[in-house]
Amino acid sequence: MNLNISHPAKPEELVPSRYALRIGDIDVLVVSDGVLPLPTQMLAHNADPAVRAAWLDDQFLPPDAFDWALNVVVVRSGGKTILVDAGLGSDPDLHLPRAGQTIKRLEAAGIDLGAVTDVVLTHMHMDHVGGLLVEGVKQQLRPDLRIHVAEAEVKFWEAPDFSRVAMPPGFPDALRATAKRFVNEYRNQLRTFKDEHEVAPGVVISRTGGHTPGHSVVRLASGGDRLTFAGDLVFAVGFEHPDWHNGFEHDPEEAARARIRLLRELAANRELLVATHMPFPSVGHVAVEGDAFRWVPAYWDY
Ligand SMILES: [Zn+2]
Repeated sequence: MNLNISHPAKPEELVPSRYALRIGDIDVLVVSDGVLPLPTQMLAHNADPAVRAAWLDDQFLPPDAFDWALNVVVVRSGGKTILVDAGLGSDPDLHLPRAGQTIKRLEAAGIDLGAVTDVVLTHMHMDHVGGLLVEGVKQQLRPDLRIHVAEAEVKFWEAPDFSRVAMPPGFPDALRATAKRFVNEYRNQLRTFKDEHEVAPGVVISRTGGHTPGHSVVRLASGGDRLTFAGDLVFAVGFEHPDWHNGFEHDPEEAARARIRLLRELAANRELLVATHMPFPSVGHVAVEGDAFRWVPAYWDY
């Protein structure tokens, strides 16, 4: 029997994957690249396993592995369209099939890759640069695209030190290979800076080091509003336990110092925080709580 019923268009996405806000005259769009299922030891390889397990239980999270959010940001200021990080791209055989959605979701948001004038990279881990290596992406980008990244980051990946990390098997090789491929592919577009660089009016990329030697954050300021995109300097666990060492940090002590410095500053000036691996849409404030901090999600506003 052929019923020949015409079905309504199947929705591509079950939940919104983008969230827009304004910082003064600056447009900000947080886009979810998807999620990365990772073992929970990655959250804190220097923590007492019982304390770590208690934290996960308090958060209603499973004990062994959970899905880390992965966010990128599009910033528009002064006629420039700036993509901050690019997501995972194609899964490098590490069983991460739910990430790598950035390119598709930018298209769904009406953002043409050819309209992107600048890319800012917080660092060169594959979950931040991989989207630019997806087949066909480079051809859609402008030939005069500028990719801003700290000089120390490019230098680090020439001979990266993995002696202090605690990553799952396969990750170090995949990270090395992806960073190498990225530099080979985009060498002519790279615009390096030492400590700080203003990419557009009120959009400043600022090196923090720690997570990687060239790790940087993006500071937005316009009309009295402020927002910082913290990249991988802050994870969900980093408010209550800022001194816990994340498995992906190449210099965990320095990463903890930089994290505490940034969280203190954001708590003092009451500005908004967005971070790569905070639950989408990852927009909130930082409060001081005793010797540590507390994450206060912003009220959904649209
Ligand atoms: Zn990351």
